[in-house]
Parts: sequence; C-alpha cells; structure tokens
Amino acid sequence: MSNKVPTRLPLFLFVLSLFSPVRAAGQSQGNYTYGPLPVFELHSGFWINLHHTLYHDAKLRTTAASPDKSGKTYGPTLNTAPGAKPSLSPAEQRIWDDAVAYYAANYAAKDLLFSTELVQLKDQLGDFEDCDELSGRKRKFCDAGLPAKLTQVLEAAAPVYRAHLWPDHDRANRRWIMRVAPLVREQGVGLSERLADIYQTRWPREKIRVDLSGYANWTGAYTTADPLRVTISSLDSRNQGAAALEVLFHEGSHGIAEPVQAAIIRQCHQRDKAIPRDLWHALVFYTTGEVIRPVIGSAGATAGDQDGSVPGGGYTPYALREGLYQRGWNDYFKLLQKFWQPYLDGTASFDDAIARMVSSL
Ligand SMILES: [Zn+2]
Repeated sequence: MSNKVPTRLPLFLFVLSLFSPVRAAGQSQGNYTYGPLPVFELHSGFWINLHHTLYHDAKLRTTAASPDKSGKTYGPTLNTAPGAKPSLSPAEQRIWDDAVAYYAANYAAKDLLFSTELVQLKDQLGDFEDCDELSGRKRKFCDAGLPAKLTQVLEAAAPVYRAHLWPDHDRANRRWIMRVAPLVREQGVGLSERLADIYQTRWPREKIRVDLSGYANWTGAYTTADPLRVTISSLDSRNQGAAALEVLFHEGSHGIAEPVQAAIIRQCHQRDKAIPRDLWHALVFYTTGEVIRPVIGSAGATAGDQDGSVPGGGYTPYALREGLYQRGWNDYFKLLQKFWQPYLDGTASFDDAIARMVSSL
C-alpha cells in the first residue's frame, strides 16, 4: 500500500518523554499503552480515536445525504447504550459540526484502508499520541506536520471530544485490551510462530502496533503496511469476547500472508486462470479461525464472556459466525476444507494444497 514512511518522533525524544512533562500531558489526556506483551503493542491513543470518530460521523452524514444504491449501510453495530448521545452545548455542537463538515468534504469519500493520504494521517496521529497538541505551538516536537487547516480542525474539536466521547471510547479500548492481554501473554508467541510456519515466512521481529479505537473502518478492523499497523474498533460487536484474539491475529496475519497470495497467483498463471480476488483473504480467515479454535477452547475461562462460542463449548471462527462464506465465499470454503485443511493437519504440502485449490476453481 503506502511505501512512504511517515515522519516519526526521533527516538531520543521518545525516551525523553518518559521523564518529561510530555508524559504528564499524555497522561492527562488519558493515552494508554498496555505493555509489555509479546507480538503486539496495544494502544488507546487520543488523536487516532478523534480522527476515526470524525471520519465515522462524516461518513454517516454523507451517506445520509446520498444513500448508497446498493443498500449497504455504513457503520457497524456498536456496543453502546441505546440513546447514549452526548449533550453538547450549542458552542461545542458548532465546533463539532464544523469538524465533521471538514471531514465530510475532504475525507469521507476516501477509504481508510486504500487511501495513502488517510493511512499516513492515521499513522501520524498514532505517533503523536503523547502530545496534547499537533501544531507544535507549545512544544516544538509536537508539530505533527499536518496540513494547517486540519491541525486547526483537530485541535478545535479535541476539547469537545475529550469532554464527551473520549472517556467512553478510551474505557472501551482499555476494557478490550485488558481482556485480550492475558491470552496474548499466554499464547501470543506460540500462535505467531504457528501462523508464520503455515504461511512459510517469519512473523515480523518488531512488535506490531495495534490501535484500539471506538470506531475503525466499516469492517471493524483494518491493517496497513509500511509500517505494519492494525486498527481495531473496540465498540464493534463483531470484535468482542473470545473473538478479540482471532481479530488480533487475523489482522496481524495480513502482514505475513503475502506468500499465499504469491503462490495463488503463480498457480493461476501456470494454469492460465483468472486470479480469484479474495481466495487468499478467505484462506487467512479460515486459517486464523482454525489455529485459534483450540486455544480459545482450552482458555475459555480466560477469554471472558461467551461471544463467539456455541452451546456445548467450542469456538466458532469469525468467518463462520459472521456468515462471510455464505456471502459469496462458499466455494472457497469448500476448497479450503478439502485441500487446505490437510496442509494444516500436516498431511499435505503447502504447494500441493495451493495447486489443488487453484486447479479446482
Ligand atoms: Zn482481513
């Protein structure tokens, strides 16, 4: 996707910030980093949450203005109390509406996952989570280098967001993190090694940064490359309970599934077949589900509530539970069960499994 690396704070500033007022400013803003865990580093950052909230509101506004002909609605089912609308003063409401209007005009038509501009903006806002400003007016190293108008919009909306929505979003983020962290600590290394083996590659040596956000994109979670970063909605009903661990490793797998895509493409070329657009993604869903299933089964008590489980125990993987296969991937599902599962069971090779799937398409 994006091959430009966003500017980051120099390391020495980061180290310094642990002992300086910046940290205090960060704390007063309620940024939160859970650590240390293996494999992932989990964040609840103020700016990235504000950004996704404005994007979400702008998207709702533009969708309401011109309804999608496909009938697809924007936005997930959220785990928020019904009717829980913040009560903004008229002045706050005006500021918020202006910010949403700016997002509607500049960003709502762009995709959070596919727009290089939005990917870089998100990464940048993540990097500056310990700053309570983005302009560098008070502290030079808090100049995030964003377009001037955007900086103004975000800094103006910040106090409104901080007073009304951020406490709920931050709480949901932390709750999500606290629930998944013990499983990551217990199982993270094993799972990452198993997945890397399956995809015949290495899991990234650096920990993968994961930003929890009240809102993410329409699928509830997304992953961007260079640098590899994951954004997960902590309010999305699809990401709760035992499913949290699967969502985490599914998204992380986006960073290592390239050999599968390459092998599928190679096999298609050899057979002069059209490349099936989503087969690799169905495969990643299938694989993560199968790898997670026994872990959740044995760690059910730690996993918290019972979302994602079926009566009589056991865990239903995300793609089955959310009906992804029924919505156009059913043929893939059959191929995965028939040819990929033997590879997962150790009775077929990687190349054979992919070759057989492709030749059966
Ligand atoms: Zn995915």
